[in-house]
Amino acid sequence: MESKKIVTRFAPSPTGFMHVGGVRTALYAYLWAKKNKGAFILRIEDTDKEREVEGSIEHIIKSLKWLGINWDEGPDIGGQNAPYLQSQRLDSYKKYAQILIDKGLAYPDPYTEEEVGVFRDTAELAKKPFLYREHRPETFGVWDGTKPLRFKVSEIKSYKWHDLVYGDLSAGPEALDDFILIKSDGYPTYNFAHIIDDLEMGVTHIMRGQEFISSTPKFLSIYDALDIKPPLFATLPPIMGKDGKKKLGKRDGAKDVLDYKSEGYLPEAMINFLALLGWNPGDEREIFTMDELVEAFDISRIGHSGAQWNDLKFDWMNKEHIKKLSFEKLKKNIFEYLPENLKIEKIIPLIAERISKWSDVKEIVEKGDLDFFFKQPEYQKEKLVYKDIPLEKISENIKKAVSELNNLEENNFNQENIKKVLMQIADKLDNRGELLHPIRYALSGLDKSPDPFIIAEILGKNETLSRLQKAV
Ligand code: GLU
Repeated sequence: MESKKIVTRFAPSPTGFMHVGGVRTALYAYLWAKKNKGAFILRIEDTDKEREVEGSIEHIIKSLKWLGINWDEGPDIGGQNAPYLQSQRLDSYKKYAQILIDKGLAYPDPYTEEEVGVFRDTAELAKKPFLYREHRPETFGVWDGTKPLRFKVSEIKSYKWHDLVYGDLSAGPEALDDFILIKSDGYPTYNFAHIIDDLEMGVTHIMRGQEFISSTPKFLSIYDALDIKPPLFATLPPIMGKDGKKKLGKRDGAKDVLDYKSEGYLPEAMINFLALLGWNPGDEREIFTMDELVEAFDISRIGHSGAQWNDLKFDWMNKEHIKKLSFEKLKKNIFEYLPENLKIEKIIPLIAERISKWSDVKEIVEKGDLDFFFKQPEYQKEKLVYKDIPLEKISENIKKAVSELNNLEENNFNQENIKKVLMQIADKLDNRGELLHPIRYALSGLDKSPDPFIIAEILGKNETLSRLQKAV
């Protein structure tokens, strides 16, 4: 038997912001589709015109593209299930609404808002929950589209379902009330629209956040009424803030994903980090490329407890991905943050080893940590001393280095040769640090500076010798 093609989708509402939680949902859906050689769909759920923010669709597309989460069907590229904007699929919703009306399972809301207000107040006074279904009319009027269309729920049915992550779940009939399928503005509600779309688009697996669990009985009641076999549900655990207690919020720095781009994080690091927030490969691996994630991903290894956001870990991961970049890529990104006089190819590796994201380059520059490349550093001479080695001895060592380095021809004054010369002297000492520390400090004035050999090469023979002479 040929197995059914796996189809997943990411269905954001265009409300302006692309939260990391949303991106993780998109990523998991993408990984699952790719792993199974299936299709991943981007669908825009734009039926709440009040919450819609202009430019959001472009923003969503830009964010996902930056991250390399590419869809097989979507609003910008079309596909066999087009259109991919819910606002352009109204005929489909009407068609299924009519089926429900014909079955006597949907009816136009007969009340005015004021009347419903009275019902609500009365229930509140009686300290009872307000249930619309208790005021359901005995006979249903004809729906002309000017009133909300409501679904007639069953008052006696309980629902049980299986979630691929959370296991067996259930809810009793008290969880259900006659909910709206199509609003008076002609747009469907999320509760109704996504079911029709998932059906028409052949979606096999729905991945979404925990906030949808409580509405699942509503969804199931519609699947039931329309005789549709529901897709499989995989509810994702929440992403928790840094304290591990509350969901990640703005206070924890929950930003729009493109803000991470401006801060200088790599898309591959963001993908790697989000993949591991809620899923684990079952072994010790932590660094993954997208292809490796596709290979390793499995719904059965999605956890149920909230995964905690951790800035340090994200920075570490970004650094690991920076290490994998080609020299050209490093150069392009680092140069973007360097002033003209510091755009020197040779300092790229020095900078690369000190940053965990591109914006750190700016910080290093602003702190003046690179100033020593173009001016003699100011420093405290006591700091030239290594451990408790006497000053005279240090001075002797540097003198020796100066005279040996002086023998190097100017055009041979490169990292390798400098290293050879200095190591020959250093290896004869009790500890190499007796020479290398003061040289590093004399050249850079920094307690922790990069490799002294490369600094010397960049400074050139004259400047290097002059700084060492000064130290002596
Ligand atoms: N439009 C919904 C949201 O943005 C999508 C939920 C779902 O994936 O079904 O939250």
